[in-house]
Amino acid sequence: MGGDVETIKERLDIAEVIGSYTKLEKAGQSFKAKCPFHNEKTPSFFVSPSRQSYYCFGCGAKGDIFTFVEQTEGVEFKEALKILADRAGVELKKFSPQNKAEQSEKERILEVLEEASSFFEKELSSNISAQKYLKTRGIGEESVKNWNLGFAPAEWRSLYTHLLSLGYKEEILLKAGLVKRVEPGSGKSPYDVFRDRITFPLKDSSGTVIAFSGRALAKETEPKYLNSPDTVVFKKHEVLYGLDRAKDKIRRKDYAVLVEGQIDLVLSHQAGVDNTVASSGTAFTQAHLERLKKLSKRIILAFDADAAGYAASEKSAALAMALGLEVKVARLPEGSDPAEVAKEDPAKWKEILRKSLPAVEHFLSLVLEGEKDARKAGLAVKNRILPLVALLESSIERSHFVSLIAKRTGIKEDVVWDDLKKVKVSAAPPPDKGEVQEGIKNHPSRSDEYHEVMALLKENPGDKDLMRHKEELSILMRIDEFDEEMSRLRLDMKEGDNKMLARVASLARKRDEQRRKMR
Ligand SMILES: [Zn+2]
Repeated sequence: MGGDVETIKERLDIAEVIGSYTKLEKAGQSFKAKCPFHNEKTPSFFVSPSRQSYYCFGCGAKGDIFTFVEQTEGVEFKEALKILADRAGVELKKFSPQNKAEQSEKERILEVLEEASSFFEKELSSNISAQKYLKTRGIGEESVKNWNLGFAPAEWRSLYTHLLSLGYKEEILLKAGLVKRVEPGSGKSPYDVFRDRITFPLKDSSGTVIAFSGRALAKETEPKYLNSPDTVVFKKHEVLYGLDRAKDKIRRKDYAVLVEGQIDLVLSHQAGVDNTVASSGTAFTQAHLERLKKLSKRIILAFDADAAGYAASEKSAALAMALGLEVKVARLPEGSDPAEVAKEDPAKWKEILRKSLPAVEHFLSLVLEGEKDARKAGLAVKNRILPLVALLESSIERSHFVSLIAKRTGIKEDVVWDDLKKVKVSAAPPPDKGEVQEGIKNHPSRSDEYHEVMALLKENPGDKDLMRHKEELSILMRIDEFDEEMSRLRLDMKEGDNKMLARVASLARKRDEQRRKMR
């Protein structure tokens, strides 16, 4: 495998790989960008083609093309290798025929999920009523194939029996979330989780099946949608349905369309909106949105046009805006959902998306249309709309919406501003020091950083951002020194030693002076 890694590194240019995920700016012999791994306003993220590495002075993210793809796509090394091998046109040497016992448990789980997906697909091809259902929903044969839709038979153990006959152990089926154990001691075999349901395989961003979602075929079955339980390969609150197929389109079109259901998604893609993703039976989470943000900062929310959909879109909009995303909201005909609109008239679906309004404007219209009493409307604007305005990072935008609100409500602009100032921005991550992704938190040592900044400065002498980082770094190193010295003195200090105390106080003053320089 070592050979493959080297070949891929030789063939691919790191700036080109990273540049396809995030916009790079040339800086001497290297490139810089706003870091894709943490929120920031000025670039701290540097890519050095000569050393085939990247480095962020803000959050400490660093590595090569492989770690970059792992971190960006949220995949493990093996998948990153696959993605980059494809890109480089390198055919990976086949791993020796794998001994099942040697495979990691995770690999076996992924394999059995793939097997289950094929089983469901085959079942669909022979089940007329399931096919009929998909047809009435407007899902064409090509979409069925593209999305590997399937059918779980209305039996207790059809998948279970099938997988056991292929040699898989019951333990793995349980761990993959495909079967459920009957009460212990009953002596009965586990039974299938998905029964009499249309199945949608949920995939990770590289297209590997990691779970299923099942839509009940019979009207009376509850719940209507059922998801696999969380497993070692599936975390429901992180997975976006359709991301594997939509991610390149999102990057290219520079916006994503967010819908709530699997069928909404399939029909939206079928209608030609191939940058659509869906949450899977949950609300959109911070993890979902952060993942999308790496592809594009712009999203359109297109949820069901009913009370539940309105509430969900208001929540998602606030969360996304708090993360610094540009949010628009599509307005569907009352009582409809994206699936219906996209099925009936693809052109109309696109038109609705085109006409989507910035979140603040959209919700303002809804509030004003719903509330004819001026006083109550004013209150609703204050409680529901101003908190959204407060989330906008740009003051130009904020003042734009303040004027708009004033114009539409008849409230004086000054009053709107006063109210806006009183809004507490809730629990949102701070705009510039946003949470750094798990796994890349380990900040390298100062001397490593110093080494890196000096190397980059050699590649582009005099770069403003680099000079700033160097300056900050030397300040931080001075602060570290003062801190160390102070703790040494404190250790040695005897009670009542006023000279020593004065020395510590002076060190603290010097340190604080340095700290002030940082801001
Ligand atoms: Zn960073």
